Amino acid sequence: MPSGTAPTHAPLWGFAIENNQVVIDGRAISDIAAEARKTPFYIYSKRLIADRISALRGHLPSALKLHYAIKANPLPEIVAFISQQVDGLDVASLGEMDVALEAASAKAISFAGPGKSDDELEAAARCGVLINLESVGEARRLAAIAERLAVTPAVAIRVNPAFELKQSGMHMGGGAKPFGIDEEQVATAIGEIVSMGLDLRGFHIFAGSQILNEEVLLEAMDRTVDAVQRMADCVSMPIRHVNLGGGFGIPYFPGESRLDLPKVGAGLEPIMDRAKTALPKATFAVELGRFIVGEAGAYVTRVLDRKISRGETFLVTDGGLHHHLALSGNFGQVIRRNYPLAIANKGGLDAVETVDIVGRLCTPLDRLGDGVSLPRAEVGDLVVVFQSGAYGATASPINFLGHPPPAEIVV
Ligand SMILES: *Cc1c(COP(=O)(O)O)cnc(C)c1O
Repeated sequence: MPSGTAPTHAPLWGFAIENNQVVIDGRAISDIAAEARKTPFYIYSKRLIADRISALRGHLPSALKLHYAIKANPLPEIVAFISQQVDGLDVASLGEMDVALEAASAKAISFAGPGKSDDELEAAARCGVLINLESVGEARRLAAIAERLAVTPAVAIRVNPAFELKQSGMHMGGGAKPFGIDEEQVATAIGEIVSMGLDLRGFHIFAGSQILNEEVLLEAMDRTVDAVQRMADCVSMPIRHVNLGGGFGIPYFPGESRLDLPKVGAGLEPIMDRAKTALPKATFAVELGRFIVGEAGAYVTRVLDRKISRGETFLVTDGGLHHHLALSGNFGQVIRRNYPLAIANKGGLDAVETVDIVGRLCTPLDRLGDGVSLPRAEVGDLVVVFQSGAYGATASPINFLGHPPPAEIVV
């Protein structure tokens, strides 16, 4: 991106500025908005998603399978598009499983989640989705259902590893967690699960998400493989499936930079070699959500009002945290920081003022940008927020305050 108002703190990768317009896939955001006749909306680019997947394929060890964790963006059109290019889909609810089954065969789908209901277990067992067991209690419920249905569900044990990642955005493993079975208890659990007649295929470990440091990521993978090796020693039959997690992050805020994929790939080679030697019958997968879709999407909202309060300029938009909770800083962030954003129809113009951008909800939490330097924005101009393809609409309280949901446009 050229200088001017380009959000330099998270260098953008897929969007461009042409004739003072922010452009995606050769089309100005403002033209897309005019055609949609409606704001706010999310816009996702299939080309950017495909580029990201081919970069992963190009740099990661070829033996490593690539799964998409659909909770990052479960829009059916996106899931269908991605499913053609990855080896599996990971789901975390019956709703997600239904979306995944529209796009892929059951044997390419796995189902994790700490609170699976009997209905969910039954649906997964009936259609042959791999079930990641989160506890021995869950295994017992599944075994009872399987006996009633006369099926042998394929299962993996989700493991809460003995290590904890220091530098990941959200810790999902290590310490006391609701996810999976503690590594120390796995040896005992394996015996019980096998005796229940479930088809134990292997293990699932997800240590954390939003990791931007290559060393931390590689250390997590290394320690995950160590843990899997230790646990495999407790099983008499060969391990056929290992989901190593992932947690590849994307840059959102000042000072963050994009993961160096060649470095990650090179570092993973010896780890994968070790893993394959230890478990020759197993296929290994990473499950990525944010990294695949996060940078391929933006949120677009229109300025409804421009006002000054005690010396501060506010741009009030037709969007808000009901559409994009993470942007407002309320989806797991400790302190609110600005996502990269721009005025879509004034893309190349110099910044001339510092403004606060807010949504339309009656709550002080509804902040989209604090103290942002921008060209002068008028009522009707479009604010485009980048890095919004993952955990956007799907992770937001859409019903809050009763405004319409955002449109989701795929180009
Ligand atoms: C949320 C989640 C993912 C996806 O995480 P990203 O940070 O979006 O890549 C993968 N696996 C599990 C088990 C998850 O809960």
